[in-house]
Amino acid sequence: MKVDRFVCTGCGVCCRKIVITNDYGTFGLYLEPQETKLFPKWHVEPFWGFGVKGRRRNRPKFVGAYQFTGEQCPYVTKQNECRIYERRPLVCRAYPLSLFFIRDKEGKVHAEMDNRCPVINKRFPEEQIELPHGGLDYLGETAISADLKSTRHFENCVLKSDGYLWLYHFKQQKWQLRAHPSKKVN
Ligand code: SF4
Ligand code: SF4
Repeated sequence: MKVDRFVCTGCGVCCRKIVITNDYGTFGLYLEPQETKLFPKWHVEPFWGFGVKGRRRNRPKFVGAYQFTGEQCPYVTKQNECRIYERRPLVCRAYPLSLFFIRDKEGKVHAEMDNRCPVINKRFPEEQIELPHGGLDYLGETAISADLKSTRHFENCVLKSDGYLWLYHFKQQKWQLRAHPSKKVN
């Protein structure tokens, strides 16, 4: 029986078209704090943070994640290989999971697939797919564990925060207060 598994064709789209615009804003390559040193600092901006809006505060109290905002990754080779493969960020390990966090009614966290990847687009042509974590034979262990690690980081930040999620719109260079993370972010 043929096993249904994700197989990357090496087209390079995910490393060459980093900036995306979706319902939440415009974003670059997601980076956790310790990953920012991999990229030139003039192309690294905040991604999300937490903190209640103050009378004079239009930004979160602390930043939990960053983004690389260049159009394409500086580490992709002409052959679409990764020059820092062993050190690549979590988001690259999780791909084609997109590391966007969505809670269902029971409070479980889901992540979306990135259907800009031609393989995903062909396999799931209708729309972006939300997949619950765990047991995903299609994507394999590396992607799932990277996504879980990133989700844990997000949830740890939720726990130590006073609750309110902010997203940084790097094109507009401003923070946007999104929602309390116990609610769906939309
Ligand atoms: S770090 Fe590697 S895998 Fe990640 S976007 Fe850059 S070239 Fe692609
Ligand atoms: S977009 Fe999909 S098929 Fe193309 S290199 Fe990235 S993971 Fe592989």
